[in-house]
Amino acid sequence: MRKSLCIVVLLLLPGLLSAQLTAPKKSAQLPIIDVHVHAMKASPGVPPLCPWFLRNMPGGDPNSPPPSFLSTGCAIPLQAAHSDKEMQDSIMATVKRLNMTMVVYGDAGIIRNWKKVAGDRIIPGIGVSSPKDMSVVAFTDSLSSGFYKVMGEVAPQYQGLSPSDMSLDGYFAAAEKLNIPVGIHMGTGGNGMANLTSPKYRASMGDPLLLEDLLARHPKLKVWVMHAGYPLVDNMIALMGANAYVYVDIAGLIWSYSQVEVNAYLKRLVQAGFGKRIMYGTDMLIWPKLIETSLSIIENADYLSEEQKRDILFNNAVRFFRLDPEKFK
Ligand SMILES: [Zn+2]
Repeated sequence: MRKSLCIVVLLLLPGLLSAQLTAPKKSAQLPIIDVHVHAMKASPGVPPLCPWFLRNMPGGDPNSPPPSFLSTGCAIPLQAAHSDKEMQDSIMATVKRLNMTMVVYGDAGIIRNWKKVAGDRIIPGIGVSSPKDMSVVAFTDSLSSGFYKVMGEVAPQYQGLSPSDMSLDGYFAAAEKLNIPVGIHMGTGGNGMANLTSPKYRASMGDPLLLEDLLARHPKLKVWVMHAGYPLVDNMIALMGANAYVYVDIAGLIWSYSQVEVNAYLKRLVQAGFGKRIMYGTDMLIWPKLIETSLSIIENADYLSEEQKRDILFNNAVRFFRLDPEKFK
Protein backbone atom coordinates (compact mmCIF):
# COMPACT_ATOMS: atom_id res chain seq x y z
CA MET A 1 0.00 0.00 0.00
CA ARG A 2 2.70 2.34 1.12
CA LYS A 3 4.94 1.37 -1.79
CA SER A 4 2.27 1.93 -4.38
CA LEU A 5 1.57 5.37 -2.92
CA CYS A 6 5.27 6.19 -3.31
CA ILE A 7 5.19 5.11 -6.93
CA VAL A 8 2.16 7.29 -7.61
CA VAL A 9 3.86 10.27 -5.99
CA LEU A 10 7.06 9.65 -7.96
CA LEU A 11 5.09 9.38 -11.17
CA LEU A 12 3.22 12.60 -10.45
CA LEU A 13 6.18 14.57 -9.16
CA PRO A 14 7.77 15.55 -12.49
CA GLY A 15 4.39 16.74 -13.72
CA LEU A 16 3.81 18.77 -10.57
CA LEU A 17 7.27 20.34 -10.75
CA SER A 18 6.97 21.31 -14.39
CA ALA A 19 3.47 22.64 -13.75
CA GLN A 20 4.91 24.85 -11.02
CA LEU A 21 7.75 26.06 -13.22
CA THR A 22 5.59 26.85 -16.20
CA ALA A 23 2.50 28.12 -14.35
CA PRO A 24 1.46 31.51 -15.69
CA LYS A 25 1.86 34.44 -13.36
CA LYS A 26 -1.27 34.95 -11.30
CA SER A 27 -3.24 37.71 -12.98
CA ALA A 28 -3.34 40.99 -11.09
CA GLN A 29 -6.24 41.35 -8.69
CA LEU A 30 -9.06 43.17 -10.50
CA PRO A 31 -10.16 46.32 -8.70
CA ILE A 32 -13.07 46.28 -6.25
CA ILE A 33 -15.03 49.26 -4.95
CA ASP A 34 -16.76 49.00 -1.58
CA VAL A 35 -19.25 51.88 -1.45
CA HIS A 36 -20.26 51.45 2.20
CA VAL A 37 -17.55 51.46 4.86
CA HIS A 38 -17.79 52.95 8.36
CA ALA A 39 -14.63 54.44 9.86
CA MET A 40 -15.12 54.12 13.57
CA LYS A 41 -13.04 54.16 16.70
CA ALA A 42 -12.35 50.79 18.23
CA SER A 43 -14.02 50.32 21.58
CA PRO A 44 -12.98 47.64 24.06
CA GLY A 45 -15.28 44.74 24.74
CA VAL A 46 -16.96 44.51 21.34
CA PRO A 47 -17.92 40.82 21.03
CA PRO A 48 -16.99 38.64 18.07
CA LEU A 49 -19.55 38.39 15.29
CA CYS A 50 -21.07 35.40 13.56
CA PRO A 51 -21.88 36.28 9.96
CA TRP A 52 -25.44 35.64 8.72
CA PHE A 53 -26.65 35.61 12.33
CA LEU A 54 -30.05 37.03 11.39
CA ARG A 55 -31.09 33.67 9.95
CA ASN A 56 -32.54 33.10 13.39
CA MET A 57 -34.72 35.69 15.13
CA PRO A 58 -35.80 34.07 18.37
CA GLY A 59 -39.06 35.08 19.97
CA GLY A 60 -38.72 37.10 23.15
CA ASP A 61 -40.84 38.90 25.67
CA PRO A 62 -40.76 42.58 26.67
CA ASN A 63 -40.53 41.51 30.33
CA SER A 64 -37.43 39.42 29.65
CA PRO A 65 -33.92 40.65 28.84
CA PRO A 66 -33.80 42.12 25.32
CA PRO A 67 -32.56 39.95 22.45
CA SER A 68 -28.85 40.31 21.73
CA PHE A 69 -28.02 42.33 18.64
CA LEU A 70 -25.30 39.90 17.58
CA SER A 71 -24.81 36.19 17.90
CA THR A 72 -21.55 34.48 18.79
CA GLY A 73 -22.68 30.87 18.55
CA CYS A 74 -20.77 29.77 15.46
CA ALA A 75 -17.59 27.81 14.80
CA ILE A 76 -15.36 30.69 13.75
CA PRO A 77 -16.75 34.08 14.80
CA LEU A 78 -15.06 37.18 13.34
CA GLN A 79 -12.96 39.01 15.90
CA ALA A 80 -13.41 42.74 16.51
CA ALA A 81 -10.42 45.05 16.14
CA HIS A 82 -9.16 45.96 19.61
CA SER A 83 -7.54 49.30 18.79
CA ASP A 84 -7.68 51.99 16.12
CA LYS A 85 -4.23 50.91 14.95
CA GLU A 86 -5.20 47.25 14.65
CA MET A 87 -8.31 48.27 12.72
CA GLN A 88 -6.37 50.55 10.38
CA ASP A 89 -3.54 48.09 9.76
CA SER A 90 -5.94 45.27 9.04
CA ILE A 91 -8.22 47.25 6.72
CA MET A 92 -5.36 48.91 4.85
CA ALA A 93 -3.62 45.57 4.29
CA THR A 94 -6.83 44.13 2.83
CA VAL A 95 -7.40 47.23 0.68
CA LYS A 96 -3.95 46.76 -0.83
CA ARG A 97 -4.13 42.98 -1.21
CA LEU A 98 -7.57 43.02 -2.84
CA ASN A 99 -6.96 46.20 -4.89
CA MET A 100 -9.88 47.96 -3.23
CA THR A 101 -11.23 51.48 -3.14
CA MET A 102 -13.62 52.40 -0.34
CA VAL A 103 -16.26 55.07 0.18
CA VAL A 104 -15.91 55.79 3.89
CA TYR A 105 -18.16 57.53 6.45
CA GLY A 106 -17.82 58.23 10.13
CA ASP A 107 -15.10 59.59 12.38
CA ALA A 108 -13.34 62.41 10.51
CA GLY A 109 -9.99 61.78 12.25
CA ILE A 110 -10.02 58.10 11.34
CA ILE A 111 -10.97 58.88 7.73
CA ARG A 112 -8.03 61.30 7.50
CA ASN A 113 -5.64 58.69 8.96
CA TRP A 114 -6.79 56.07 6.46
CA LYS A 115 -6.50 58.55 3.62
CA LYS A 116 -2.92 59.38 4.61
CA VAL A 117 -2.05 55.70 4.18
CA ALA A 118 -4.20 54.77 1.19
CA GLY A 119 -4.66 58.06 -0.72
CA ASP A 120 -7.16 57.85 -3.57
CA ARG A 121 -8.29 54.42 -2.40
CA ILE A 122 -10.28 56.23 0.31
CA ILE A 123 -13.23 58.37 -0.83
CA PRO A 124 -14.54 60.35 2.17
CA GLY A 125 -18.25 60.84 2.80
CA ILE A 126 -20.18 62.94 5.30
CA GLY A 127 -23.71 62.23 6.43
CA VAL A 128 -26.58 64.09 8.01
CA SER A 129 -29.55 62.17 9.38
CA SER A 130 -31.35 64.88 11.32
CA PRO A 131 -31.27 68.69 11.39
CA LYS A 132 -29.86 68.33 14.92
CA ASP A 133 -26.61 66.91 13.49
CA MET A 134 -25.44 70.20 11.95
CA SER A 135 -26.80 73.27 10.18
CA VAL A 136 -27.28 73.38 6.42
CA VAL A 137 -24.62 76.13 6.29
CA ALA A 138 -22.06 74.00 8.19
CA PHE A 139 -22.88 71.01 6.01
CA THR A 140 -22.53 73.03 2.80
CA ASP A 141 -19.17 74.36 4.05
CA SER A 142 -17.97 70.81 4.70
CA LEU A 143 -18.97 69.70 1.22
CA SER A 144 -17.45 72.81 -0.37
CA SER A 145 -14.09 72.10 1.28
CA GLY A 146 -13.55 69.44 -1.37
CA PHE A 147 -12.46 66.76 1.11
CA TYR A 148 -15.84 65.02 1.09
CA LYS A 149 -16.91 63.57 -2.24
CA VAL A 150 -20.07 61.82 -1.08
CA MET A 151 -23.06 62.55 1.19
CA GLY A 152 -23.63 59.50 3.39
CA GLU A 153 -24.65 57.65 5.32
CA VAL A 154 -27.93 59.54 5.58
CA ALA A 155 -30.16 57.54 7.92
CA PRO A 156 -33.36 59.41 8.81
CA GLN A 157 -35.10 56.05 9.31
CA TYR A 158 -33.47 55.77 12.76
CA GLN A 159 -35.15 59.06 13.69
CA GLY A 160 -38.51 57.87 12.39
CA LEU A 161 -38.19 60.34 9.52
CA SER A 162 -38.91 59.88 5.83
CA PRO A 163 -36.01 60.78 3.51
CA SER A 164 -38.46 63.16 1.84
CA ASP A 165 -39.12 65.00 5.13
CA MET A 166 -38.74 68.72 4.47
CA SER A 167 -36.45 69.15 7.49
CA LEU A 168 -33.71 67.44 5.44
CA ASP A 169 -34.40 69.16 2.14
CA GLY A 170 -31.78 71.90 2.52
CA TYR A 171 -29.00 69.32 2.89
CA PHE A 172 -30.07 67.42 -0.20
CA ALA A 173 -30.36 70.72 -2.10
CA ALA A 174 -26.72 71.47 -1.21
CA ALA A 175 -25.61 68.04 -2.45
CA GLU A 176 -27.56 68.48 -5.66
CA LYS A 177 -26.04 71.90 -6.27
CA LEU A 178 -22.49 70.63 -5.64
CA ASN A 179 -23.00 67.48 -7.71
CA ILE A 180 -22.37 65.20 -4.72
CA PRO A 181 -23.87 61.67 -4.81
CA VAL A 182 -26.03 60.70 -1.84
CA GLY A 183 -26.38 57.37 -0.03
CA ILE A 184 -29.53 56.91 2.06
CA HIS A 185 -30.07 54.07 4.54
CA MET A 186 -33.34 52.31 3.75
CA GLY A 187 -34.30 48.94 5.09
CA THR A 188 -32.41 46.64 7.38
CA GLY A 189 -32.61 47.14 11.09
CA GLY A 190 -31.62 43.78 12.49
CA ASN A 191 -33.78 41.94 15.00
CA GLY A 192 -35.57 44.44 17.23
CA MET A 193 -33.87 47.73 16.35
CA ALA A 194 -36.85 49.64 17.78
CA ASN A 195 -36.58 47.69 21.06
CA LEU A 196 -32.82 47.74 21.43
CA THR A 197 -31.03 50.96 20.56
CA SER A 198 -33.30 53.14 18.42
CA PRO A 199 -36.82 53.56 19.80
CA LYS A 200 -37.62 56.02 17.01
CA TYR A 201 -36.63 53.53 14.28
CA ARG A 202 -39.55 52.73 11.98
CA ALA A 203 -39.57 49.89 9.48
CA SER A 204 -42.12 51.85 7.44
CA MET A 205 -39.62 54.71 6.95
CA GLY A 206 -37.40 52.27 5.03
CA ASP A 207 -39.89 51.97 2.19
CA PRO A 208 -38.00 52.91 -1.02
CA LEU A 209 -41.13 54.59 -2.41
CA LEU A 210 -40.73 57.29 0.28
CA LEU A 211 -37.87 58.62 -1.88
CA GLU A 212 -40.21 59.66 -4.67
CA ASP A 213 -40.96 63.17 -3.41
CA LEU A 214 -37.29 63.87 -2.72
CA LEU A 215 -36.31 62.71 -6.22
CA ALA A 216 -39.08 64.79 -7.78
CA ARG A 217 -37.92 67.90 -5.93
CA HIS A 218 -34.27 67.33 -6.89
CA PRO A 219 -34.08 65.92 -10.40
CA LYS A 220 -30.27 66.29 -10.59
CA LEU A 221 -29.64 64.57 -7.25
CA LYS A 222 -27.84 61.27 -7.63
CA VAL A 223 -29.16 58.86 -5.00
CA TRP A 224 -28.31 55.30 -4.09
CA VAL A 225 -30.38 53.27 -1.66
CA MET A 226 -28.16 51.69 0.96
CA HIS A 227 -29.06 48.13 1.93
CA ALA A 228 -31.18 47.97 -1.26
CA GLY A 229 -34.36 48.73 0.69
CA TYR A 230 -34.30 45.22 2.15
CA PRO A 231 -36.76 43.48 2.47
CA LEU A 232 -39.11 45.60 0.33
CA VAL A 233 -37.85 44.33 -3.01
CA ASP A 234 -41.05 45.01 -4.96
CA ASN A 235 -41.08 48.66 -3.94
CA MET A 236 -37.35 48.89 -4.63
CA ILE A 237 -37.92 47.60 -8.15
CA ALA A 238 -40.86 49.97 -8.64
CA LEU A 239 -38.76 52.96 -7.52
CA MET A 240 -35.81 52.03 -9.75
CA GLY A 241 -38.14 51.46 -12.66
CA ALA A 242 -39.63 54.93 -12.28
CA ASN A 243 -36.29 56.65 -11.53
CA ALA A 244 -33.57 55.70 -13.98
CA TYR A 245 -30.66 57.16 -11.98
CA VAL A 246 -31.27 55.38 -8.65
CA TYR A 247 -28.75 52.68 -7.68
CA VAL A 248 -28.55 50.41 -4.64
CA ASP A 249 -25.89 48.86 -2.47
CA ILE A 250 -26.17 45.47 -0.79
CA ALA A 251 -24.21 46.39 2.32
CA GLY A 252 -25.12 45.01 5.72
CA LEU A 253 -27.66 42.50 4.55
CA ILE A 254 -24.87 40.66 2.71
CA TRP A 255 -23.34 39.38 5.96
CA SER A 256 -26.25 39.49 8.40
CA TYR A 257 -29.33 37.79 6.94
CA SER A 258 -29.23 34.13 5.90
CA GLN A 259 -27.19 33.41 2.80
CA VAL A 260 -30.24 31.91 1.05
CA GLU A 261 -32.18 35.10 1.74
CA VAL A 262 -29.32 37.39 0.63
CA ASN A 263 -28.88 35.47 -2.61
CA ALA A 264 -32.64 35.42 -3.28
CA TYR A 265 -32.81 39.21 -2.80
CA LEU A 266 -29.82 39.92 -5.01
CA LYS A 267 -31.01 37.49 -7.65
CA ARG A 268 -34.43 39.13 -7.73
CA LEU A 269 -32.92 42.58 -8.33
CA VAL A 270 -30.73 41.19 -11.12
CA GLN A 271 -33.51 39.24 -12.80
CA ALA A 272 -35.70 42.36 -12.67
CA GLY A 273 -33.08 43.96 -14.93
CA PHE A 274 -31.07 46.08 -12.49
CA GLY A 275 -27.70 44.32 -12.69
CA LYS A 276 -26.13 47.56 -13.87
CA ARG A 277 -27.38 49.47 -10.82
CA ILE A 278 -26.30 47.27 -7.93
CA MET A 279 -23.11 48.25 -6.10
CA TYR A 280 -20.99 46.20 -3.79
CA GLY A 281 -20.80 47.36 -0.18
CA THR A 282 -20.00 45.77 3.12
CA ASP A 283 -21.25 48.16 5.82
CA MET A 284 -17.84 47.46 7.37
CA LEU A 285 -17.95 48.07 11.08
CA ILE A 286 -15.45 46.95 13.68
CA TRP A 287 -14.81 43.40 12.40
CA PRO A 288 -12.21 43.65 9.59
CA LYS A 289 -12.90 40.19 8.16
CA LEU A 290 -16.37 41.34 7.13
CA ILE A 291 -14.68 42.34 3.87
CA GLU A 292 -13.79 38.77 2.88
CA THR A 293 -17.05 37.43 4.32
CA SER A 294 -19.08 39.78 2.13
CA LEU A 295 -17.00 39.13 -0.98
CA SER A 296 -17.63 35.40 -0.65
CA ILE A 297 -21.33 35.95 -1.37
CA ILE A 298 -20.59 37.56 -4.75
CA GLU A 299 -17.77 35.16 -5.63
CA ASN A 300 -19.96 32.12 -4.91
CA ALA A 301 -23.10 33.45 -6.61
CA ASP A 302 -23.64 30.84 -9.34
CA TYR A 303 -26.62 32.82 -10.69
CA LEU A 304 -24.34 35.74 -11.66
CA SER A 305 -22.14 35.74 -14.77
CA GLU A 306 -18.53 36.91 -14.45
CA GLU A 307 -19.58 40.13 -16.18
CA GLN A 308 -22.41 40.69 -13.70
CA LYS A 309 -20.00 40.12 -10.81
CA ARG A 310 -17.57 42.69 -12.22
CA ASP A 311 -20.46 45.14 -12.64
CA ILE A 312 -21.44 44.75 -8.99
CA LEU A 313 -17.88 44.76 -7.65
CA PHE A 314 -16.58 47.63 -9.75
CA ASN A 315 -18.15 48.90 -12.99
CA ASN A 316 -21.44 50.12 -11.54
CA ALA A 317 -19.72 52.17 -8.82
CA VAL A 318 -17.33 53.74 -11.37
CA ARG A 319 -20.35 54.87 -13.39
CA PHE A 320 -22.41 56.00 -10.39
CA PHE A 321 -19.63 58.01 -8.70
CA ARG A 322 -18.38 59.35 -12.05
CA LEU A 323 -14.89 57.93 -11.43
CA ASP A 324 -12.24 57.61 -14.14
CA PRO A 325 -11.79 53.90 -14.99
CA GLU A 326 -8.32 54.67 -16.41
CA LYS A 327 -7.09 55.52 -12.91
CA PHE A 328 -7.71 51.93 -11.80
CA LYS A 329 -5.45 50.39 -14.47
ZN1 LIG B 1 -27.06 51.70 6.97
